[in-house]
Amino acid sequence: MDDRTTVHVRRTATLALWALLAIACLLGLAAAGATSPPSSTMLREPTYVGPLTAGAHAALGAPQPGSGGWYWPIGTEDFQGWSGWLDPRGAYVHVAQDMPCAYGHPVYAIGDGVVFISRADTGGYGVGGAPGGCIIIAHTTAAGTRFHALYGHVYGLKVKTGEHVQAGEVIARVNGCRHLHFSVHPGFTYRDGNPYAGHVPKSWADHGGYVDPVKFLKTNPRAVAYEPPALPRTEITTQAPPLQFGAAAGFAYWTEEGGAGSVTWRDDLSTGARTALAPGDVVPAFDTRRYDFEALAAPALGFAVSDHEPVLTLKAKHDTPPWGEDASLVASLTNFAGAPLQGGILKLQRSNGGRWENVRLDVTGAAGEATFLYTPSAATALRVTFAPPADQPAARIYLAARSKNVTVTPHAALTTPRVPAVIDAADLVTAAGDLLPHHPAGGYSVDLVFQRRADGGDWVTQLTVAAVNRDIKGSDATRFVGHARLSAGSWRVQAVHPADVAHALSTSSWRPFTVE
Ligand SMILES: [Zn+2]
Repeated sequence: MDDRTTVHVRRTATLALWALLAIACLLGLAAAGATSPPSSTMLREPTYVGPLTAGAHAALGAPQPGSGGWYWPIGTEDFQGWSGWLDPRGAYVHVAQDMPCAYGHPVYAIGDGVVFISRADTGGYGVGGAPGGCIIIAHTTAAGTRFHALYGHVYGLKVKTGEHVQAGEVIARVNGCRHLHFSVHPGFTYRDGNPYAGHVPKSWADHGGYVDPVKFLKTNPRAVAYEPPALPRTEITTQAPPLQFGAAAGFAYWTEEGGAGSVTWRDDLSTGARTALAPGDVVPAFDTRRYDFEALAAPALGFAVSDHEPVLTLKAKHDTPPWGEDASLVASLTNFAGAPLQGGILKLQRSNGGRWENVRLDVTGAAGEATFLYTPSAATALRVTFAPPADQPAARIYLAARSKNVTVTPHAALTTPRVPAVIDAADLVTAAGDLLPHHPAGGYSVDLVFQRRADGGDWVTQLTVAAVNRDIKGSDATRFVGHARLSAGSWRVQAVHPADVAHALSTSSWRPFTVE
């Protein structure tokens, strides 16, 4: 093919693209009834052909609410790195998250809502850019933000325009594109009147009003009815009518008449262990914000105490994750008696220079639990807070709660040192590799451990060398380089990054080599 032919073919392709765009614009025009053609469009999207995660298969069962308390549209939050928010497409950007799954995979409504549009023949949503199924549903967040969610590349539409849908309801199935195109558009007014857009011109700084759908769902919890369980009530029976009582910091106190005069008792509200206080011991003031009191009805003597303070615990499943991987943090919200509080909005916060900043929001499920994922780049203190909604019933008012801090410390990432397989004993051995995260050039962050095989076959450490840090152009990693002069024999070398405040101890694999 000569140059002229290439030019001709290119021009034909360009004309065909313009023709496609014109058709897409006409379709959009007819659907939206606008007076000028929309600039946004749905470009042809590739069919997903890769393998599916266990999550995408497991989601075929009954869906469960995920991050933010939303039902995720294909039942999993693992999108396998598939086309995401603002991926470039020529002069356009992708304003959605593509979610790979099998043909026929159910599509779930992320929350309660009202169907705005349900069409089986929307331009660009079929296989290879043909017309196909697209559903847009109006949803509302817990904070009252109203938004449209678009579920594209579907067939077998089960809902009609104007219908109410319930959270987790199957609304359609994924068509032969083998991925769901999912977008979020807060507010219901479209910049160019086209509600079907999957791609908007790169030049639009506001992305046509679309927002990152994954980030949006994770940071804007779903409105769920918060039903706090009844306040836990502890009954304390006494031998004689209590003369006075109080409660503070997890203990109830009362004074009653005994054989030899009055005695003050203390009862641990979590264990029920009872202790007589020595005369003169100070009884703390009654904490009326946290505790309710009620005298027990006859024939029992004594009183009941209820605690308004919920218990919020946070556990890291992996507090030293491999570099670049998530630590999974499970927060659990219960009352003092251990009953779960469902629908509680929890905030994951991280410490940043003495300030706590919000990282993520989630809503507790039926077990009172929420799971947060966090990828640390250095040792980071994390905590979770609970702020009860303002409209709790008076008899069930819970106070705010905060978990203890958990620190997650990532490992550093080390490549296996690079060394030639065979080295002349007269030469200097150079071992080099890469270290993440970046360390200042000129320092010594990595030790190189050289071991020689002894006559018996055991590896014996002969030498440890501090490798010097070097910057790598255009990379966040640091190169480590170290030298050694070694005698003839079988050798191996390993890089070790010692534990420091910011990172956990990490080691590379061994690299074997021979010195002759
Ligand atoms: Zn897409």
